[in-house]
Amino acid sequence: MESNPSDIIALIGPAISICCYEVGEDVKEKLLDTVESQDGLYNGMHVDLKLINARQLEEIGVNKIDICPYCTSCNNDLFYSYRKENGTKNRHLAVLKL
Ligand SMILES: [Zn+2]
Repeated sequence: MESNPSDIIALIGPAISICCYEVGEDVKEKLLDTVESQDGLYNGMHVDLKLINARQLEEIGVNKIDICPYCTSCNNDLFYSYRKENGTKNRHLAVLKL
């Protein structure tokens, strides 16, 4: 089964955002190595996971991408956050139907 990337609509759900996602140099390098163009994906040691995922999609030809603006750590009253809640085992669930 083959899909044309330009036919795909991608949704990137709530996740920790660049405001709260500070990592070490090793993690930052591993994340940034997953994309060819790293422009705008980090600020110092703060990394934008959602934009990295979007960039990965763009680099394989997916151009319809919707990114949820919420940071799960800043909005811990609405979402679980592994980092904010000190390793919570609570998880988000997404359901998809084709
Ligand atoms: Zn945040």
